[in-house]
Amino acid sequence: MAVSVPVFHVSVRELVEQVKRSGDINFRFSSRSNALDGIRGHQRLQKTRTGNYEAEKQVEERFELSDLHLELSGRVDGYYPDDANFIVEEIKTIRVAVAQIPESVKRLHWGQAKVYGLLLARLHGVNSLTIRLCYLDLDQDREYQLDQQCEVADLQTFVDDLVNRYVIHLRRMMVWANLRNQAISRLEFPYSEYRGGQREMAVSVYKALKHERQLIMQAPTGIGKTVASVFPAIKAIRELEYEKLFFLSAKTSGQHMAQQAIDDMKETGLRVRDITLTAKEKICFTPDLPCDPEYCEYARGYYDKLPSVIEESMKSDNSLRRDEIERIARLHILCPFELSLDLSLISDVIICDYNYVFDPAVYLRRHFEAKKSRYVLLMDESHNLVDRGRDMFSAELCKDDVLSLRRSGKETLPGIAKRLARVNAEFLALQKPVKDILKDQGGVQLSEPPAKLFAALRRFLESAEDWLQLNQSTFFQADLLNLYFDALRLLRIAESADENYAYLLIRKRRNTYIKLYCLNPAPGLSDGFARVSASVCFSATMMPQTYFSTLMGIQEDADWYRIESPFPKENLGVFQTTYISTTYNARSASLYELVDTLASVIQIKPGNYIVFFPSHAYLAKAAEKFSERYPEFEIIIQMPVMREEERESFLDAFRPNGQSLLGFAVMGGIFGEGIDLKGTRLIGAMIVGVGLPQLGLERDLIRDYFNHEEEHAQGFEFAYQFPGINRVLQTAGRVIRSETDRGIVCLIDHRFNETRYQQLLPSSWQLHKVRSRQQLEQQLRSFWQKY
Ligand code: SF4
Repeated sequence: MAVSVPVFHVSVRELVEQVKRSGDINFRFSSRSNALDGIRGHQRLQKTRTGNYEAEKQVEERFELSDLHLELSGRVDGYYPDDANFIVEEIKTIRVAVAQIPESVKRLHWGQAKVYGLLLARLHGVNSLTIRLCYLDLDQDREYQLDQQCEVADLQTFVDDLVNRYVIHLRRMMVWANLRNQAISRLEFPYSEYRGGQREMAVSVYKALKHERQLIMQAPTGIGKTVASVFPAIKAIRELEYEKLFFLSAKTSGQHMAQQAIDDMKETGLRVRDITLTAKEKICFTPDLPCDPEYCEYARGYYDKLPSVIEESMKSDNSLRRDEIERIARLHILCPFELSLDLSLISDVIICDYNYVFDPAVYLRRHFEAKKSRYVLLMDESHNLVDRGRDMFSAELCKDDVLSLRRSGKETLPGIAKRLARVNAEFLALQKPVKDILKDQGGVQLSEPPAKLFAALRRFLESAEDWLQLNQSTFFQADLLNLYFDALRLLRIAESADENYAYLLIRKRRNTYIKLYCLNPAPGLSDGFARVSASVCFSATMMPQTYFSTLMGIQEDADWYRIESPFPKENLGVFQTTYISTTYNARSASLYELVDTLASVIQIKPGNYIVFFPSHAYLAKAAEKFSERYPEFEIIIQMPVMREEERESFLDAFRPNGQSLLGFAVMGGIFGEGIDLKGTRLIGAMIVGVGLPQLGLERDLIRDYFNHEEEHAQGFEFAYQFPGINRVLQTAGRVIRSETDRGIVCLIDHRFNETRYQQLLPSSWQLHKVRSRQQLEQQLRSFWQKY
């Protein structure tokens, strides 16, 4: 019987970097910095090539060693396939003189060129060739060609050496994988028994991974979805030969639950290397400095120090959480953020935010560049992906930032200040004809891309890059960098913006912004899903299916699965008030009735409740009126901005069996989902309104966009109604968190009575329609009498 050997996948760039990297972190020269004009420069240069030049050629090669196979893949910038003059070209764009590029960086460039050279030469059967490293100076628009004549035999030696050195690392990974897999084979579900729904979920997840499917799963809150998905995915690493598991969560609370699940499994003998990635701005030790060895000591000699740290880390399977990464980074004077990314390469489980897989600017190229890697993706609270996707694929730039930087740099950087003046002038030119609309409506859609503003921004970027190369410290350096990155992101997204985007001029917080707004995130999200072999998205609210399947970039043939709540239906009483209207115009008139209703709910059954509002302004008015009329009740209010400790103390105020407490919070906010107040810590949620997002230009544009889609023509539903009801259902999910929980949900708005909302409410809910406060009190009494 043939013995199967493990197959590893690596991109050409990753192979060369892993083996040859040395020196400092320096994003001025990093091949990952990938400046805006870089891509254009490549294309421009490729277009100038004549004859039988071939650009962007995909290459692959399998190295078969006795104990493992290595699949190497990449994309060659271009080559001339003439037998007599076979030339392979690697293009790099620069904004410095060639002589200024550090040797350590040039070595990587040559390394890539040589690997590509060998792969192509072997494909074409040539024995000697020219390797050309072509530097395109973007400022001078000048090309520098450095040629090396190479024999294939020499390139073969070079690549064999690379592969052999990389394979040493892979063999260590294999030793680890063996230990890990033995532990996984003995792994049992970490708790004494499955909760209702958990086994069903675990089986469905495993099946999806077995068949490399995309599974969208709706499962109720409180059943323990995290462990029910992580456990089978860990099993799949051994049994289905997956390389890594990415657990994505939009919130740290979700990441903590995944960490807890791993910890609990480790308690029962599991051995995996898991890492949690923390955002650069949170984990950076010197956030006011650029990532440049001249400023930041943690960037200095980073790649020289890294190998021994990686080697040391490979000896252990300690969970690499933020504290541990910071400890190692401080000990070795290494950048904690880059270290976490490098350590993720030797990790089996990577817990991180959505953007590390989906955001085109920050997704983990080091993992996803090689084709065919076998990764599993688990996505927690996946209903958030639609809005997160829109954020990731949109970009904006503030006019006031332009002005303030122009003022700061006027004396010291007249060149940049001049270019910013032009940017400001173009802003003003756009603003002038629509000034009144901006003032009255807060925003306007531009009929075409603002070409002159973008041209001015490009010129600003050139000057800023020139100056950033000089590394001169100034008090406004951080502002300059921020504006530079905002402009870069805006222009980069504009390059590929299509009918899924709208150009907006908006006014907020007394500032004017140019915004490139993503109306439909599905195409970008589908690129993200394509980076993994199998994915499971789960949430308590993944309905209606048509909304998520259209906007989440999900495959057409994805599997959808729904787990019914295992908790007794009768433990939740849902009361639908039809006598209060909370539409914007009706709010003042119904305020008294609203607060009296809230008071009635607490009077009938004292305990802890949260009332959720559609906005902070509405919340503030209702809280004020409630305190005025019912000073005997203790209340606690969600503020528009809250620090971590303030959030915790808000939640801590909900004590089990304590005095009655009424929390005032906003729907869709920090307390609207992801909070877990079990038992008597929360016995009811009152939901004011049908959760519609605030009316506005952006939502209206989404509505119009989907009204144009002949197939759906559900503009209002996609822009307002479905996201709204999703919030309502998420909010309602705060109440029943376990088998023994009992509580009520009060839906306060006459619109809940309309068929279009009724049909979106869960069929498992036992709805009590009430037409007056007296009727509500009566029904509440009879509900609570049972308990
Ligand atoms: S510590 Fe901060 S400034 Fe220094 S290299 Fe890392 S991210 Fe950049």
